[in-house]
Amino acid sequence: MHELTLASSVLEIAEKKPCEVGADKIIAIELEIGQLTCVEPLAIEFAMEAILPDSAARGASVDYHFTAGRARCEDCSEEFELDFAYDPCPACTGFHREILAGEDHPAGGNPAAPGRHQRRRGNRG
Ligand SMILES: [Zn+2]
Repeated sequence: MHELTLASSVLEIAEKKPCEVGADKIIAIELEIGQLTCVEPLAIEFAMEAILPDSAARGASVDYHFTAGRARCEDCSEEFELDFAYDPCPACTGFHREILAGEDHPAGGNPAAPGRHQRRRGNRG
């Protein structure tokens, strides 16, 4: 299952974060998933729920943000929403387009994500 592999990769990334930012534990994970990545929303949620309790992120909340696909036609400059990566331009039916949004992969791309952490309190005295 593709989503289980993805969920494992997400948790691997998340588990390194507390060390990097000096936090004690992971309290929340935010996932941004583009509609054009072919990641099934229910499958990724199921996979995260299945493996989260056995990870260093157990108890963390997980927020899913699914971003719609958007593109700009390179022939007529029309901007439009895409349901599938190979949809043509609705204005001129052309296939030359630049993808603007919807390709966000949950285990890659933004180096700041995933992960929101509780800061470690400094030693006093
Ligand atoms: Zn067009």
